[in-house]
Amino acid sequence: MSKESTRSGTAGYTPLVSVVVPVYNELQVLPMLHERLTTVLEALPIRYEIVLVDDGSRDGSGQYMAQLALSVSEVRAVRLARNFGKEAALTAGLHHARGDAVIVIDADLQDPPELIPAMLQAWQEGADVVAMKRRSRAGETRFKTLSAHVFYRLLNRISEVSIPEDTGDFRLMSRQAVDALAQLPERNRYMKGLFAWIGLPTTVIEYDRAPRAAGTSQWDYLSLFRLAFEGVTSFSVAPLRIAMALGVFTALAGCLFGAWIIVKTLVMGDTVPGYPSMAAIMTFLGGVQLISIGLLGEYVGKTYFEAKQRPLYLVRDVVERTRVIEKSVLKPVELHRHVA
Ligand code: UDP
Ligand code: MG
Repeated sequence: MSKESTRSGTAGYTPLVSVVVPVYNELQVLPMLHERLTTVLEALPIRYEIVLVDDGSRDGSGQYMAQLALSVSEVRAVRLARNFGKEAALTAGLHHARGDAVIVIDADLQDPPELIPAMLQAWQEGADVVAMKRRSRAGETRFKTLSAHVFYRLLNRISEVSIPEDTGDFRLMSRQAVDALAQLPERNRYMKGLFAWIGLPTTVIEYDRAPRAAGTSQWDYLSLFRLAFEGVTSFSVAPLRIAMALGVFTALAGCLFGAWIIVKTLVMGDTVPGYPSMAAIMTFLGGVQLISIGLLGEYVGKTYFEAKQRPLYLVRDVVERTRVIEKSVLKPVELHRHVA
């Protein structure tokens, strides 16, 4: 079937749209999420599936979604073996989505499901990626907004692909884009960077990001910092170059200083033994060396993890109710368990 006909639903084909939701301890919002998603999706001339990925929740979210999947045929629950982190959960969801278009959305309803029709509209007009850009960040601190801004400016200056500011994981991807993403083999998944890397025709839609419907964000500043660091080191080797430049600079300065001391001693004799300055220089150089080694280690570590070729995530089970057309009844339970 041609790309155009999968989109517009010509030739009697109704496009299948997948909605992928990474879930980690979101029991409080899941019922509301399901309700709002269903309301929006039912009103559209499409077939749809909701792929809930349980990222090793500890509050019973996994159980809840399995039950939901058993009673509603549009819902599939992919339960991971433990908490692998949002990026891995998202990847798992994308791998399990079967749609002609795939929409990624947060469980906490910060990304309003009501925008899905507009996203599908843009897709049918030919976009392979519909990126949702946050106009406001309601319910987030000034500090978080500001630090995010500074981070993106910096990241874009030093990395090869330009990673758009204020677009998160909330987006629509065509089948082609999803397949392209699935081809990227790396283990260190900085999704925003990977999304940007694949390119393809992209439409940007602006929206107002709502505050969390319930529960608390799983991100503290430390994990945000880690994510930022991950982003920089996955998409740029600039830090290594900076470390090297710094090394060259300090080494040169050290040489000059040494030469100057020799000249001074020759001309004026040994005046004051310069212990304090020596100590200062040594600590400084030691610091520069340690930073550089640390940075180097970060990249070597990345290579190490890539070399191990471990899977990104492990699936505990996939729960879904499959429609069996036989005698036009719904066969209630078809539970398959497989480990990826
Ligand atoms: N999430 C996940 N695994 C994690 C942390 C978060 O699957 O280890 C999910 C979470 O359930 C939510 C989404 O990722 O659906 C975004 O998380 P959160 O709202 O905490 O992040 P924020 O909106 O603050 O960026
Ligand atoms: Mg959130």
